[in-house]
Amino acid sequence: MTSRGERTEVSVIESSFTVFNPATGQAIAEVPDHGQADIERAIAASDEAYGAWSGATAYRRAGLLRDAYALMMERKEVLAKVMTEEQGKPLKAARNEVQYAADFFLWYAEEARRVYGATIPAPRADQRFIVSHQPIGVVGAITPWNYPSSMITRKVAPALAAGCTIVLKPAEQTPLSAIEVFKILDDVGFPDGVANLVTTSDPGPVGRAFTTDPRIRKLTFTGSTEVGRMLGEAAGRSLKRVSMELGGHAPFVVFPDADPVHAAKGASLVKFLNTGQACISPNRIYVHRSIVDEFTSVLADRVGKLVAGNGLEEGVSIGPLVDAPALEKVERQVVDAVNKGAELVTGGSRLTEEGLNDGYFYAPTVLSEVDTGMAIYREETFGPIAPIIPFDDEASVLELANDTSYGLAAYVYTNDLSTAMRMFEGLRFGIIGINDINPTAAAAPFGGMGDSGLGREGGREGLAEYLETKLGGFSI
Ligand code: ADP
Repeated sequence: MTSRGERTEVSVIESSFTVFNPATGQAIAEVPDHGQADIERAIAASDEAYGAWSGATAYRRAGLLRDAYALMMERKEVLAKVMTEEQGKPLKAARNEVQYAADFFLWYAEEARRVYGATIPAPRADQRFIVSHQPIGVVGAITPWNYPSSMITRKVAPALAAGCTIVLKPAEQTPLSAIEVFKILDDVGFPDGVANLVTTSDPGPVGRAFTTDPRIRKLTFTGSTEVGRMLGEAAGRSLKRVSMELGGHAPFVVFPDADPVHAAKGASLVKFLNTGQACISPNRIYVHRSIVDEFTSVLADRVGKLVAGNGLEEGVSIGPLVDAPALEKVERQVVDAVNKGAELVTGGSRLTEEGLNDGYFYAPTVLSEVDTGMAIYREETFGPIAPIIPFDDEASVLELANDTSYGLAAYVYTNDLSTAMRMFEGLRFGIIGINDINPTAAAAPFGGMGDSGLGREGGREGLAEYLETKLGGFSI
């Protein structure tokens, strides 16, 4: 079961589940299908390890996290290949993700030694106040399939840096990257029980354990808003600390003073990254009417050059969708939009030619003349569809962009400083990219408002999620 591979005492593994390659539909591995008893053992191991680990010096925790960074760098190629096979992204993108994932180990190795407290001037002459931060306890973590290693290190690294122990359940589609990450933790010598992995085809019992077991003090979840809301409600009953990184519906706004060619290039890069399967993927592309034709034609031209295929093959620039339901959702949204008057500029169908028919491939697609009555305008797409909506003025586009219950990422292209500042301040989203399609890094707080979640990951804020604040009042 859990993390520690061979070193953990585990029951004989009774069952397993199959991992498939979404590019070929072929089975690539069998992994342990852990059940209730394994979950219980993982939580018990974490709880037992907590005392010693929370008492270890920050220097020791930092050292192990640095070692994890170095080993992950050494194994970058292996990790990238595993990720491409189970998740589908092109190998180059997988390498980038492994780097991003490793960055969290290094960043939080550094931050571990900077969990500073404070002294506060007290109201009485004979009184002293000190504030210190302590780890919150055992953490339960659940991660998604779209970024199979960075979503794990983004939780594990700050939790371990803070002095927490952790039990993590990866998505059932992508457990192999998780197994590789936890092997690294094992190989660099994190003590037994500090980091535990539970792989399972049935997430329900893990969710129940993480939200009800009194030994779990914090739940951290990345996934859909629907599941996050359900887990958050359950965790609320026992007043567990909760962080949620949920869905998004990112606006991408191109003002008339922006260079439409540069903006279209940015849109093509960020929209089709990971085949559109990212919570920060632009889902509504608003382009000023005066430049919409040029923008659309440049975007369509670039999109037309994307090469879909098995990410392990040279020259492939876009992978498959993760599974059949994902493909069906994309198909449904495109048909709905076209039936309601959207113009299909490029793409618009499944890819079934030689070599692609066994995977879940959909042609990179550009739709223009999208409007508010279409499903694609309201729902998160999580697929390779770029819907373009023309707009006429700043006030109306700001209102349209904010007209969603989600609030994760937003993008703005403008060369006018005042427009940029007004949009930065006016958009109700947690991450705003101004002429920037990649406003993410281990050092920067990532997270959303509204239905996009609670809390932040990365940066100093990401460490605070795993810490309690303690006030000491001393009478002297
Ligand atoms: P997606 O639709 O992107 O797969 P999900 O929210 O269903 O998003 O999945 C994200 C993570 O949540 C995965 O690890 C999945 O196994 C887990 N998950 C799904 N349903 C539950 C549940 N009822 N309890 C706990 N975890 C769940």
